[in-house]
Amino acid sequence: MQRIEFSVTGGSDVLEFVEVEGPVPSGDQVAIEVAASGVNFIDTYHRSGLYEIPLPSGLGLEGAGTVAALGPDAGEFAVGDRVAWTGAIGSYATHHVVAEGSLVRVPEGVALDTAAAVMLQGLTAHYLATSTWPLEAGQRCLVHAGAGGVGLLLIQMAKLRGAEVFTTVGTDEKAELARGAGADHVVMYRDVDFTDAIRELTGAERPLDVVYDGVGATTFDGGLALLRPRGLMATFGNASGPVPPVSPLQLMPSLFLTRPTLFDYIQTPAELRRRTDELFAWIADGKLDVRIGATYPLAEVAAAHDALEGRRTTGKVLLTP
Ligand code: NDP
Repeated sequence: MQRIEFSVTGGSDVLEFVEVEGPVPSGDQVAIEVAASGVNFIDTYHRSGLYEIPLPSGLGLEGAGTVAALGPDAGEFAVGDRVAWTGAIGSYATHHVVAEGSLVRVPEGVALDTAAAVMLQGLTAHYLATSTWPLEAGQRCLVHAGAGGVGLLLIQMAKLRGAEVFTTVGTDEKAELARGAGADHVVMYRDVDFTDAIRELTGAERPLDVVYDGVGATTFDGGLALLRPRGLMATFGNASGPVPPVSPLQLMPSLFLTRPTLFDYIQTPAELRRRTDELFAWIADGKLDVRIGATYPLAEVAAAHDALEGRRTTGKVLLTP
């Protein structure tokens, strides 16, 4: 089998395409022939060292494929089943082993590449819109980087729940995509101050109920300034760098601040499967459009990382064996 490995942290040039022995599943593990693996911003944090992991290591947390072999204690799946997963490092590979509790079944109505595309970003959008701040009809939310992987999915889920959606994007093409996903107001935050723009659009100083911020350093303060008393800042990522330390005084007037992470919202196989069942049903029913913006061969992973970090991607970026 082939996979991507790295033994030192750094830029995309630390990623190596290697040939290794195929994995043998032990215990409750399941071996999978990978159809597609997803590229996510968190992979770049693992690669750069912003989030530390033991090295040498494989890379990539999510994917989808077909069951190839079962460990002696694995009983839930059969060879040939179509499955998907998240949270299993080493997914940038032609083959992978995953504990069966981390696997979900992919229904017939959902293609494997689509399933791979929503396991991390789709589940993230799902918990943000339904659990971190369960959006209600008429509430106003702000989604930063609205044409990104999480962004396009979160805008659609916020609209499914009846919210009024404000979003920020970097280019005209991205603005079109965000509008296509249902965003009510699109702000070009590289050209204008998004805080001023949203105040102007609404005629209110603090118009928002919730801010979903995966951009981080460059947008955090502006988002906080737009929240109404008792509103929520969900700072869930660092695409522009980590948010500096915050004083509690910045949370006046009675704001809430959370730093959520997906793995706290899929703590059990039951919770994981409840969320993926809903995601897959929305996809099969045509309620959720999954945009795969680019697909790279596994060996070209460095180009995929450069594009994601260089703000040149839209929707999902996939790797295929
Ligand atoms: P995206 O596809 O959204 O790509 C990131 C986007 O961020 C870029 O396309 C760009 O959009 C915007 N951006 C703004 N400033 C910068 C910058 N300085 N450098 C690079 N990009 C910038 O990525 P993902 O959907 O994979 O992830 C979005 C965020 O969500 C990330 O911060 C990620 O870590 C986080 N995340 C958090 C999870 C959690 O559970 N906590 C789970 C999944 C993702 P534009 O050109 O429009 O500005």
